[in-house]
Amino acid sequence: MDRNDLIEHLKFAKDLGVEGVSTDPAWRERDDVRSVRLQPDIDGAAGGERPAQPGRYENMIPLAPVDALAAVRADIGDCTRCKLHTLGRKQIVFGVGNPQADLMFVGEAPGADEDIQGIPFVGRAGQLLTDIIEKGLKMPRSDVYIANVIKCRPPQNRNPEPDEVETCEPFLFQQIDIIKPKVIVALGKFGAQTLLRTLDPISRLRGRVFDYRGAKLVPTFHPAYLLRNPSSKREVWEDMKLVLKLLNE
Ligand code: URA
Repeated sequence: MDRNDLIEHLKFAKDLGVEGVSTDPAWRERDDVRSVRLQPDIDGAAGGERPAQPGRYENMIPLAPVDALAAVRADIGDCTRCKLHTLGRKQIVFGVGNPQADLMFVGEAPGADEDIQGIPFVGRAGQLLTDIIEKGLKMPRSDVYIANVIKCRPPQNRNPEPDEVETCEPFLFQQIDIIKPKVIVALGKFGAQTLLRTLDPISRLRGRVFDYRGAKLVPTFHPAYLLRNPSSKREVWEDMKLVLKLLNE
């Protein structure tokens, strides 16, 4: 579904009296909400037994997470919603990985390498994150999902500003609600504080587990901080052991 189709679809829903779309995790398990993510039952139509009747729930199947993520990406489009599109960003860095990952990492914002490649965590900090995943957690990087709070690079890698976060974070929430990870690792002060809506320092947040949008959220130090403070890798390893324990519960 491209952006225009999505807009038409939402206008149609509005005409039918739909007043909004909930991102509350409590809605995830409701059967009637599954109809929000539906597409025509192509197999049924092709099999000749049940002709497709678009609009009828019996002939619809849920949109797969990969397609639901693609719809969010299409909705973002070539985004001009906040000022970052005028401040030198090359492209949107949406997210990468397994659309049904049990484990998700959330960073702050793309840096220069990510802005060029369109993929989160591919620079030096990204290499360290890959090591944490592959050497520490012993899982392929492609098994997890990696995204950022904001999808565009801030100029000179400055901290994202409140209006930029407010504009962009709903897309992260949609990604989380589609992927439904068991565990989310918030990387660094900015990611953790934004998701948890707190100003507590990362040193107070890490080592703890928070309930977050149906997942367990584990804050830890940002890989870029670890590059500057390698002795803190010990604490991150403790956090990763906690992550493994939560994944196995
Ligand atoms: N730092 C982040 O927070 N995100 C990236 O994608 C890269 C570096």
